Amino acid sequence: MHFPREGGCQCGAVRYAVTREPASLYCCHCTNCQAQSGAAFAMSMLVARDGFDFVQGEPQAYHFVADSGNRKIGWFCPDCGVRLMHDTEGRDTITVRAGTLDGAQELQPVGHIWTRSAQAWMQFDQDQLVYAQAPDDGYAALKSSWTRQQSQIPG
Ligand SMILES: [Zn+2]
Ligand SMILES: [Zn+2]
Repeated sequence: MHFPREGGCQCGAVRYAVTREPASLYCCHCTNCQAQSGAAFAMSMLVARDGFDFVQGEPQAYHFVADSGNRKIGWFCPDCGVRLMHDTEGRDTITVRAGTLDGAQELQPVGHIWTRSAQAWMQFDQDQLVYAQAPDDGYAALKSSWTRQQSQIPG
């Protein structure tokens, strides 16, 4: 997938832009992501803090503590309730809820985290990076695998 790229909520009131090349894309199977999305897992796109901007509408903040113990802020559309971005205290990256990106169907996650709480029917490919909890390498392998994948996209 090429960047910069925009995304937005279900009703269209809140729009954002990813203005820099993301650092990674993975699926998170933690209990917070399952409850928040109402789905089996969430797709998280790691982006530098200065590579993300809200460009339309007024998102609202929900404060919570993640399974990792990290304090996070989830930004969502006040009209349709769709979560767009998570901001973790003390990190220089944020995570975009990647399913809200325009053209999200092109996305190819490179790994899975927090699989200890994954749904029992989930199956993981051998060529994907899989972590029972948060990655113990500071997301280094998830970042390099994503960078490699992006470099193979033509033009
Ligand atoms: Zn909305
Ligand atoms: Zn999660």
